[in-house]
Amino acid sequence: MQATTTSFGIEEALEKLGIKDLNHGTSTGNKWFPGGEEIASYSPVNGELIGKVTTTTKEEYEQVIVSAQKAFLSFRAMPAPQRGEIVRQFGNKLRELKQPLGKLVSYEMGKSLQEGYGEVQEMIDICDFAVGLSRQLNGQTIPSERPGHVMREQWHSLGIVGIISAFNFPVAVWAWNTALAWVCGDVCVWKASEKAPLCSVACQNIIAGVLKENNLPEGISSIINGDYKVGEMMTTDTRIPLISATGSTRMGRTVGAKVAERFGKSLLELGGNNAIIITPTADLKVVVPGAVFGAVGTCGQRCTSTRRLIIHESVYDKVRDAIVGAYKQIVIGNPLDEKNHVGPLIDKDSVDTYLKAIEKAKAEGGKVLVEGGVLEGEGYESGCYVKPAIIEAENSFEIVQHETFAPILYLLKYSGDVENAIDLQNGVAQGLSSAIMTNEMKEAEKFLSFAGSDCGIANVNIGTSGAEIGGAFGGEKETGGGRESGSDAWKVYMRRQTNTVNYSDELPLAQGIKFDL
Ligand code: NAD
Repeated sequence: MQATTTSFGIEEALEKLGIKDLNHGTSTGNKWFPGGEEIASYSPVNGELIGKVTTTTKEEYEQVIVSAQKAFLSFRAMPAPQRGEIVRQFGNKLRELKQPLGKLVSYEMGKSLQEGYGEVQEMIDICDFAVGLSRQLNGQTIPSERPGHVMREQWHSLGIVGIISAFNFPVAVWAWNTALAWVCGDVCVWKASEKAPLCSVACQNIIAGVLKENNLPEGISSIINGDYKVGEMMTTDTRIPLISATGSTRMGRTVGAKVAERFGKSLLELGGNNAIIITPTADLKVVVPGAVFGAVGTCGQRCTSTRRLIIHESVYDKVRDAIVGAYKQIVIGNPLDEKNHVGPLIDKDSVDTYLKAIEKAKAEGGKVLVEGGVLEGEGYESGCYVKPAIIEAENSFEIVQHETFAPILYLLKYSGDVENAIDLQNGVAQGLSSAIMTNEMKEAEKFLSFAGSDCGIANVNIGTSGAEIGGAFGGEKETGGGRESGSDAWKVYMRRQTNTVNYSDELPLAQGIKFDL
């Protein structure tokens, strides 16, 4: 292995996960393909090379899809509870490998070790959910208007699910999709983020072992690697009925259009611009940790990160001072060291975007309350460690209207009723996560009503970030409209069929139409 200077057991973790210096990035299960160019994965933690992954060539992509098509024919015929059993075993393997996989997530992506473990825990949770679901892919019986007829609705497997994932949840997003897709009888092809390719190799090694132990064919779980060009092979491929794409709104705009052009289905999980409304009755004990964790957790690189605080003028000064005070206690450093709260940004391009956003906010009239900046010196050699910033701003600033994937928190003031705050909260193009802090029941209910938050997620007295797998996850407007994970999100991985069966001796037509011959 490349020498690493960390003393956090990374080498051991890599070994347990089967990660080498040079890894094949294309696989149909237990078969791995040599690939073309190499992607080097550097850790944002210390700037060191972790390993390399080869990218998928056009010819290899073809082989992957043909293998997946073949596997689908047998996998969909397997009873759903038996597919659930495979997912159960996969969840157990994840339990065994939670520590090394969580460490790799933390080391390759830069989130704190606790969040790395948390991400693997989400994978385990969705497996448990999917196992139960494998016995509940229920259709329904619908009363027919015609005598001697019955109507049913049933759900069939869809085919190949193409998964495109972002760097910030380099393993969980794949599991949210695959665990459900597999119990639904689909097969999956995953193009991981080019910024965290080793995570995909590790995950594939884990599931490949489970598939082998169960004598299942190649093609049920495949990975391909590379940049957007490899992703495009899937988005334009009519053999893939569903593309589940997680990433920026920019990416979703292209992917959504490409998939729609060929009448495919897409599940889009895109950027957010999440706000917490802080009302006069809000409890500071809840507000401060909710807002601070939301804004600085994962170094502001969660799709649900808190980007805006919309604070009532009557409590503005008190809330501002409490949050600014809390920021003084934030410890920034190696995310593998549990005493640190905030790790690095993913790379230097992100650092650049963060610096430019702060400059833009200032140029638009923003007042900096907590200075940002790049950290230098011992422990910060990767150049990716930045200081979480707080800026007093207006919702109308162009920069506030955009998602900057970094720890910049904008404070906005509102006056009058909660409706004014809701207008500000909804007054952005994105619609992922939102929250209100209040002890006033009427305000909370207004926020959750049809005239309230327009986001896919709306919380009361908890922050915007962090979601449980039991609920459907996703957002509206430029966030893309997709839902994955819990509730009835499984339905997108299946095709719905309506059946009408005539068990009478006549052929009455619907709507009373007569057609006498
Ligand atoms: P990104 O859009 O740069 O890349 C995401 C993925 O899309 C990568 O795998 C990339 O290779 C691929 N891609 C990009 N252009 C493509 C194209 N034209 N065709 C096919 N594939 C293409 O995003 P990122 O920087 O990795 O992640 C950060 C973004 O993801 C943020 O905007 C964040 O809010 C969003 N995100 C959203 C959710 C959600 O559930 N809503 C979850 C995680 C991240």
